[in-house]
Amino acid sequence: MTRGRDRGREAPFVPLWKWGTGMRTVTVLGATGVIGTHTLEVVDRFPDAFTVVALTAGRNVERLAELVRRYRPRFVAVAEAEGARWLRERLRQDGLPMPEIGVGREGLVAAAEVPSDVVVSAVVGAAGLPAAWAALARGAVLALANKETLVTAGDLVMAVARRHGGSIVPVDSEHSALFQCLMGSRREDVRRLLLTASGGPFRTWPKERLAQVTVEEALRHPNWAMGRKITVDSATLMNKGLEVIEAHHLFAAEYDDIEVLVHPQSVVHSLVEYRDGSMLAQLAPPDMRLPIQYALMHPARPENDWPRLDLTTSGALTFEPPDLERFPCLRLAYDAGRAGGYAPCVLNAANEVAVEAFLEGRLPFNGIARVVESVLERHITGTPRELNDIVEMDAWARGEARSAVRKGGWGA
Ligand code: NDP
Repeated sequence: MTRGRDRGREAPFVPLWKWGTGMRTVTVLGATGVIGTHTLEVVDRFPDAFTVVALTAGRNVERLAELVRRYRPRFVAVAEAEGARWLRERLRQDGLPMPEIGVGREGLVAAAEVPSDVVVSAVVGAAGLPAAWAALARGAVLALANKETLVTAGDLVMAVARRHGGSIVPVDSEHSALFQCLMGSRREDVRRLLLTASGGPFRTWPKERLAQVTVEEALRHPNWAMGRKITVDSATLMNKGLEVIEAHHLFAAEYDDIEVLVHPQSVVHSLVEYRDGSMLAQLAPPDMRLPIQYALMHPARPENDWPRLDLTTSGALTFEPPDLERFPCLRLAYDAGRAGGYAPCVLNAANEVAVEAFLEGRLPFNGIARVVESVLERHITGTPRELNDIVEMDAWARGEARSAVRKGGWGA
C-alpha cells in the first residue's frame, strides 16, 4: 500500500496499559439511538466489565429517563432546554438521584469531558464532531461509530488524538473488520483495503426507476436495522463513500488503495489484501453488537450470546464491483476525499441536508447526489486549520444545500 504523506500517521490504537484489567468506565453519546442501544446491550452482557458514567440523547428524553433509572450515570445531556426541564421533573417525581444535566452542543461536549476510560460516539451527523474532539483532547479512548467525525475533519481530528494521547477504535463493522485483519501485520506488507457494501435495497434497480424511490422503500434495508439517516446513505451508497474517507484517515491509506466491493449477503465485513497475494477477511452475522464488543474489549474476545454464523447454511457469498453510474454518491465521496481540504466536510453537510429533505418528501431520491454535487462545485477550496473553520464551512454548505433543495428541479 502506498502510504506517501500519511506514512506512520494511522490511528493511534489503544495501548494496552490504557485498558488496564479492571472495570472500564464508559460514556455513551447518542445512547438513545440504534448504536447507543446496542452498546448498552454489550454493557449489560458484561456487567462486571463496565460502569456507565455519562449518557446523552437528542430529543428522546423519555428513553433517556429509563436509561438514567437503569445505569445511574453521573452526567447526562439532551439536545434542547425543554427536554432538560422535562427530564429533571421526571427524575424528581420518580425520586431518582439527580445527575448533572447538560444541554445542546455544550452539553454533548461536557459529557465527553466527564472522566471515563472510553467514549462511544454514536451521535448521528456532524453534530458528533465537537464531542469526539473533546474526548480525544483529554486523551480518552474514542470508540467511533459516528463516521461523520472523520469525514468532516479527519486530518484535524487525527492530529488532536496524536497531540493529546487520545486513541480511536473503529465501531463501524467494515472498519472493525479491517482493524482485525490488520492486527499483527507489517503495514508495508499491505496492498489494499477492500470495504464491502451490501449494495442497499436498490442494488438491482435500473437507473430510471431510482427517480421514483419512496421513503418507505429507502428505509427498508435488506440486512441491517439502522437509524434513518444511515439507512438512506446505504441506499445511495453515500454511506460507503463516507466509510472510504473514514478508512483513509483511520488506516492512513491512499484512496487508490481502498476499494469497494458489493457483497449483498453482508457476511464478509471487509478484507485486507497483502503483497504476497493473501487476503484476510472477517466474517460474522450482520449484528453491530459484535464490532461494539470488540471495540470495547479487544484484544479480548469473551463469549457472548449473539447469533453465530453457520457457513454450511449461509448460502453463496457473492461479490461484484459497485455501479458508480447508478450510485454517483460513491464517486462524489471518492472525489471529495481525493480533493481533501474542505471538500469532505462540504460533501457531508450537503448530504445531511439532502437526506433530511428526501425523508421529508422535499427531494427525490436521485436528487440527493445532484444537490451534493452542486454544492461541492461551488465551494471554495482550502485547508481547514482549526475546528471553527470546519464549523463555518459546514454551516455554509448546509445553507447552500437548503437553497438548492428549495430551488427544486433535481429529479429530472
Ligand atoms: P440513530 O438515528 O439511531 O441515533 C442517533 C443518536 O444521535 C440518537 O441517540 C439521537 O438522539 C442522537 N442525536 C441526533 N441528533 C443529535 C444532536 N443534534 N445532538 C445530540 N444528539 C443527537 O443513528 P444510528 O445509531 O444508526 O447511527 C449513529 C452513528 O453511527 C451514525 O453516524 C452512523 O453513521 C453510525 N453507524 C451506525 C451503524 C448502524 O448499524 N446503525 C453502523 C455503523 C455506523 P434522539 O434519538 O434522542 O433524538
